[in-house]
Amino acid sequence: MPRKIAIIGAGIAGLASAISLSNELTPKVSGLEIIVYERSKELSTAGGAISLTPIAQRHLDDLGVLSKLNQMGPEAGVEVDTIDLFALNSGRHLGPLRVTASKDAGCDNFKGRRVKRISLALAMVAAIEDLPNVSILYGKKLTGGDTTDDGVTLTFDDGTSASADLALGCDGVHSPTRTRIVDPGNESKYSGVSFVQSITSAVDASHPTRSETTSLHIGRHGSILTSFCDPNREKLFVAAVLKVNELLIERYYAALEGDAAAQNSMKMSLRYLVRNQSNNSRVPTLRKMVDHAEDWDLCPVYQVRPGRPWHRGRIMLLGDAAHAMPPRDESTTHALEDAIIFSRTLSHNVGQPIANSFQEFECERRAFIDNAFDESFHLWQRNQDLAASLNYLKDPMSPVSRPASPDVNVDRIPPLSVPMPMNDSFSDLSVCSLTQEYLGSHGII
Ligand SMILES: Cc1cc2nc3c(=O)[nH]c(=O)nc-3n(C[C@H](O)[C@H](O)[C@H](O)COP(=O)(O)OP(=O)(O)OC[C@H]3O[C@@H](n4cnc5c(N)ncnc54)[C@H](O)[C@@H]3O)c2cc1C
Repeated sequence: MPRKIAIIGAGIAGLASAISLSNELTPKVSGLEIIVYERSKELSTAGGAISLTPIAQRHLDDLGVLSKLNQMGPEAGVEVDTIDLFALNSGRHLGPLRVTASKDAGCDNFKGRRVKRISLALAMVAAIEDLPNVSILYGKKLTGGDTTDDGVTLTFDDGTSASADLALGCDGVHSPTRTRIVDPGNESKYSGVSFVQSITSAVDASHPTRSETTSLHIGRHGSILTSFCDPNREKLFVAAVLKVNELLIERYYAALEGDAAAQNSMKMSLRYLVRNQSNNSRVPTLRKMVDHAEDWDLCPVYQVRPGRPWHRGRIMLLGDAAHAMPPRDESTTHALEDAIIFSRTLSHNVGQPIANSFQEFECERRAFIDNAFDESFHLWQRNQDLAASLNYLKDPMSPVSRPASPDVNVDRIPPLSVPMPMNDSFSDLSVCSLTQEYLGSHGII
């Protein structure tokens, strides 16, 4: 049974795995030591605000994270049960969209939540601080490693190395654990769509709509989401979902490495992009709010080819490292579920070879994740089919389960157009183009 467990990445999957492994294996495994290796020098404040499904909230509750989050006052985020849809240009109210708890049982007491990524990370770290057998080491960027029958060796860019009985690659969509050790060369692929986002003060910029918490302004060429992310409504998350070319992404990352002037100029360029999007809007407060926000970040959406190996030797990939997919706001839920299910599987198999746990985990997760990818992929793809869009408008109003089409060729992932809706639990980020294409093609917007 592994006593020393290394986790690469202190993101959602990594921190959730650390908590869940400690909960499941203590005191079953004596001398348990869980170490999280994170490349950043400290927890990153980047990434804006994330939308959590009711199921994600339930998992966070099980992990003891929700109570930590709820102690954080205004930083705890805000619960969301409906999203108001507006036509971007005309400002017309298209209706509310209920954030449902999907068809899964056990989520009745939970709503959706919009919370800053950094707040969620801090709540997870606070939960870890209560666990004596877990530690987090920052400034540890994985560069490579090896796995044998006996153990794992990991190397870091500071010249150090570490050994473990088991390693979990929770290092996100560009995971070096995947591309360098588990499945060499399996690089992520850019979807063609990026989020340009900012968190701004809502005090001076009145909220652009009559929405209680979250509004989605749907335009023909992209959408703008505005969402409060604190109960006092002082902070507003703004995200434009746009087609962005890879050249701009390269320039963006180069600018981040540059001096303050280069960074500033890039942020102004991003604001210009969003302004272009909001300029035609007849909602003056939306334009005002875009002008008000200065600190814009670019978040490109990448995905990982499905059907590829998740494990090798004594290393398992979890979360986006294994299966980043076009966003439907359920990816965090998938990452949390990976962590919980993997830990329970390991716990059930105490005394058995690690390979048994890996196999059992894969049996439990592979078909579910493949199905989630197919659904997500198809929803995005169908966006290009205007005829099909006619049906889409109905979807947000009446959740139905859509079977995954078996014919998707996952090896050929063409660039996607704009995000599409989820069908079980609806997401502000993913419903946008559903109505957008329909409304646009029928001259409603
Ligand atoms: C623009 C955008 C918006 C999204 N919005 C939502 C949303 O609203 N709701 C939702 O559910 N999902 C959303 N998602 C998806 C969600 O962000 C991911 O599914 C989730 O963050 C996956 O968690 P993870 O822990 O697997 O990866 P990550 O959160 O990416 O964490 C990976 C961690 O590994 C670390 N790391 C990377 N490389 C190394 C290395 N070499 N060595 C050590 N550490 C390393 C990173 O620094 C990071 O801390 C969104 C995605 C995008 C791109």
